[in-house]
Amino acid sequence: MGWIWILALNVLWVVACYNLAKNKGYSTGWAIFWGLIGGLIALIVYAVLPSRRTMGICPSCGRGLDNAFVACPYCGHQRTAV
Ligand SMILES: [Zn+2]
Repeated sequence: MGWIWILALNVLWVVACYNLAKNKGYSTGWAIFWGLIGGLIALIVYAVLPSRRTMGICPSCGRGLDNAFVACPYCGHQRTAV
């Protein structure tokens, strides 16, 4: 039953792609699509992609911020709700 292992591996890296995309702020729908099409290659691509969550900029010190942050970790500037 070799195909079960191929299927299990596919599910494994689709889930891994999904989690990486979710953590880095990318579309999870595309992550599942690319995981199915590209398998391990898609996983590697998502692993090396820079996080999109650091796209926000602190109005006080101008550093890149994770959108999930309520306060700037560098200068302590309080952010308003996103
Ligand atoms: Zn700041």
